[in-house]
Amino acid sequence: MSSNIVIVYHRQPYTEVKVDGKIEFHENKSPNGIVPTLKSFFGRFDSGAWVAWKEAEDPMNPGFERRVEIEDAHGAYTVSRLPLTREQIKSFYEVSSKEAFWPILHGFKERYNYDPVDWPTFREVNWAFAEAAAHEAADGAVVWVHDYNLWLVPGYLRRLRPDLKISFFHHTPFPSADMFNVLPWRKEIMESLLACDVVGFHIPRYVANFVSAARSMLDVDVTKRQKVDDDFAAEFSALTEVSVPSELQFGDQTIRVQASPVGIDFGYISDVAGRSETDEQVTGIRADLGDQKLLLSVGRTDYTKGGIDQLESFKRLLEAKPELRGKVRLMHVSVPANKNMTVYENIQADLEQMAGQINGQFGSLDWQPIALISRAIPFTELVAYYRAADVAWITPLADGMNLVAKEFCAARSDGDGVLVLSEFAGAAVEMGSALLTNPFSNRSMDSAIEQALSMEEPERRDRMAALRRVIQTYDIQFWAEHQMQALGGEEARLASLP
Ligand code: UDP
Repeated sequence: MSSNIVIVYHRQPYTEVKVDGKIEFHENKSPNGIVPTLKSFFGRFDSGAWVAWKEAEDPMNPGFERRVEIEDAHGAYTVSRLPLTREQIKSFYEVSSKEAFWPILHGFKERYNYDPVDWPTFREVNWAFAEAAAHEAADGAVVWVHDYNLWLVPGYLRRLRPDLKISFFHHTPFPSADMFNVLPWRKEIMESLLACDVVGFHIPRYVANFVSAARSMLDVDVTKRQKVDDDFAAEFSALTEVSVPSELQFGDQTIRVQASPVGIDFGYISDVAGRSETDEQVTGIRADLGDQKLLLSVGRTDYTKGGIDQLESFKRLLEAKPELRGKVRLMHVSVPANKNMTVYENIQADLEQMAGQINGQFGSLDWQPIALISRAIPFTELVAYYRAADVAWITPLADGMNLVAKEFCAARSDGDGVLVLSEFAGAAVEMGSALLTNPFSNRSMDSAIEQALSMEEPERRDRMAALRRVIQTYDIQFWAEHQMQALGGEEARLASLP
């Protein structure tokens, strides 16, 4: 086939909807996030393809077309759909990726579950992705592979198609060598990633960790280093004096490694925030709150998101400051993302139990300290909560980036609102004007939330202005261009770039 860009992402780039017995391809419900940005690249190349999986009872006879042609606002592109059985999906995604890799990537060794990993299936699924991408790619095309569940794809692709330019983006944290090397398949994974032309991470620390892990097991040379502010302005972070490796040599392969923090679509979020429907929702929320302050916490139900630690901190706050009872509410949104996985069900149960206990201990007929929301809130409604909140309380124990923190600030065109952010969210590198806190320390968590609730308006506005400047500059478009430019020599194909 002949696509100049092939995006390999484990999910399909649209929602399939049955209308009058026929399948239609609709834009995903949430128009933010990286999927639309990735799709926007199809408009820039002559031709593009997307490779994803789709569940099939019998992959030899899947009952759906393997390749579909899509034409939407982003241009025309092909979607190659890999038929995977339920067992393959469970093994490659729910077990290997979520039970073994996810805890290690986030530094939770004690949650790492090695035994059920079926490595041959992980290889087989990754091989199928690589074959499909190789099939779609034109001579010398760019193939852009996403995230750790497709770790082995670059190595297989390089074998199948040495002519391709392969870029990989790692969306989670990359841990230190001590942690990463717990994975028995570490060398095979690393050799695959070192078959890329470009490997991107969110922040410089993950780049440094990746390079040290690579050098702990393979003969990899660092051939170039670069200061963070060669690519980003000084306000990006306190790390501007730090230099990190930017080019590696492994055998014949030269690999560019770089930090490109995923951003948000500032324009889109500002637009949603400014709509009259949003105004009405904000007015409604504030009217319900009266003179109470709203603390807002939003995240997936995952042990990495630190929900339990937050509830414990909130409980200590109500114990230590009785005057806050009746004056502050915590809206804790915990979205169950991985259904049927015991580990996530247990966390949900723990959150419900603890929220119930706190509401029982402190609540009254007309005041419930915690509203625990265990479902996804549509994005446009979420923006209304971002606008109505006094404090966004985002304190993951580990998080590759954390877009909620950025979305909150993008929604605050009023210039007010306080962001309390964990030091262990990748976003903290750029968002140094937030109240940064260490969720592993009770004292740090408790004092951050007290400070946030009592912060005077001028300080709130100064901090928010600085945060908005950064996230508007390093938005989702900046991320995409930074990634693509690193491939070098792509100018010819990026003909329509401004
Ligand atoms: N989100 C949403 N509704 C909700 C909760 C979250 O639409 O009720 C969205 C949120 O706007 C953000 C994404 O889910 O875009 C979560 O991304 P983030 O990077 O914060 O965390 P992840 O889940 O990717 O670890």
